[in-house]
Amino acid sequence: MAGTLYIVATPIGNLEDMTFRALRILKEADLIAAEDTRHSRTLLAHFGITTRLTSYYDHNQKLKGDLILEMLHAGKQVALISDAGTPCISDPGYRLVRDAQAAGITVVPIPGACAAITALSAGGLPTDCFTFAGFPPNKEGKRRSFLAALASAQGSVVLYEAPHRLVATLDDIVTVLGERRVVVARELTKLHEEFLQGTASDVRQQVQDGRERGEVVLLIAPADATVQQSEGPTAEERLQAALTKGHTVKEAAALVAAATGLPRRELYAKALLMRERL
Ligand code: SAM
Repeated sequence: MAGTLYIVATPIGNLEDMTFRALRILKEADLIAAEDTRHSRTLLAHFGITTRLTSYYDHNQKLKGDLILEMLHAGKQVALISDAGTPCISDPGYRLVRDAQAAGITVVPIPGACAAITALSAGGLPTDCFTFAGFPPNKEGKRRSFLAALASAQGSVVLYEAPHRLVATLDDIVTVLGERRVVVARELTKLHEEFLQGTASDVRQQVQDGRERGEVVLLIAPADATVQQSEGPTAEERLQAALTKGHTVKEAAALVAAATGLPRRELYAKALLMRERL
């Protein structure tokens, strides 16, 4: 019988975020395929995991992918990990998953930390819908086109960025998207974790004032959220005012929808909660 390929999430900084299931799978596997074996050896040593380790990264994925598939066909259990977080999310792994599935091998995800989801969960921007776009291109021209293509993206935009390019990317956000509200989620789950929030220019300034290091996730608010932010009262303030004046929940939602262009259903739900608190 063929083995199983496990896609195992590991912590993004705080080792306490390792899951019990991930530990068991990594201990029980015949082989762990890691993006960087030297990096992963430290993590595995911390948890007393002595499973055989091999490398699987972008440049050897064809060769290593074939070897890993052979082992799976021979009935071995293989666990794939990346340097941090969830494999395949801006990390190597997708081709291995695709090829394993095509070869009839069972692929099992072992969920855990992911920087994008961690940032969204505490970033304070709308999360009902979001667009994850990975790393922006390094070169200014391509980065600006990339941002322009995201101008009409649905919901919040989630980006990964290298710390030394963050100021340049925030500059390009101001140029291409205007003063959108952004959140820079820095050093998530680590000692110096922080969320820098404000307009793109504000946050650019905060980054320049001594926060140019550390890993970051960059969140960009949807265009309609920016309109509320920069042009007068927020939707919540408008709803509150309408309810206080004696309008019904339905009327308040309709009035604010007309004024802001925000979806009436969403406003109705918010107004309902507010009225309960009045
Ligand atoms: N697969 C990983 C995941 O699930 O989050 C992401 C890998 S990607 C190569 C690395 C990028 O994730 C970093 O450049 C940074 O943008 C983001 N990242 C990873 N760890 C982070 C952390 N602790 N705090 C903030 N961002 C982090």
